Amino acid sequence: MSERTFIAIKPDGVKRNLVGRIITKFEDKGYKIIGLKLLIPTMEHAEKHYFEHKGKPFYPRLIKYITSGPIVAMVLEGDNVIAESRRLMGATKPEEAEAGTIRFEYAIAKEYNIIHGSDSPESAEREIAIYFKEEELCSDWTTMLESIMSDG
Ligand code: UDP
Ligand code: MG
Repeated sequence: MSERTFIAIKPDGVKRNLVGRIITKFEDKGYKIIGLKLLIPTMEHAEKHYFEHKGKPFYPRLIKYITSGPIVAMVLEGDNVIAESRRLMGATKPEEAEAGTIRFEYAIAKEYNIIHGSDSPESAEREIAIYFKEEELCSDWTTMLESIMSDG
């Protein structure tokens, strides 16, 4: 079933010039980009985004990290994109990330793991709404994969 997810290249990914390489991985899998922008998250963005981690020991550093520079915020659409993009990202701790995943290749520590992706349909909907207005999303176009699939 086609669904939407929220992906962010975190400030360390942007500062390390990994933006193109990371977006390529999602494009190569056939996902449709329907939202894309560069922004420096405000405290409000950061606190809403990571509310579930409030009170944990790593929370203050996480908020400082995510507000420390621009992120590339993206909304992707596709079949099973939530679970599949989590798999493509790899585990939170880079040393546990499977070979070939984005975090395996580029993350240098669990605190600096370069990418975020929604973990469920509920978090996807919530996170998309933190970073994007509905009118900023552009889903009225057809990827090559969608055209092929609709040809039956
Ligand atoms: N994080 C951290 N230390 C930890 C666990 C998490 O700094 O021990 C940060 C890390 O940037 C991670 C984010 O908090 O990506 C959110 O944690 P979560 O467990 O939700 O991991 P994710 O969903 O990003 O894989
Ligand atoms: Mg998470």
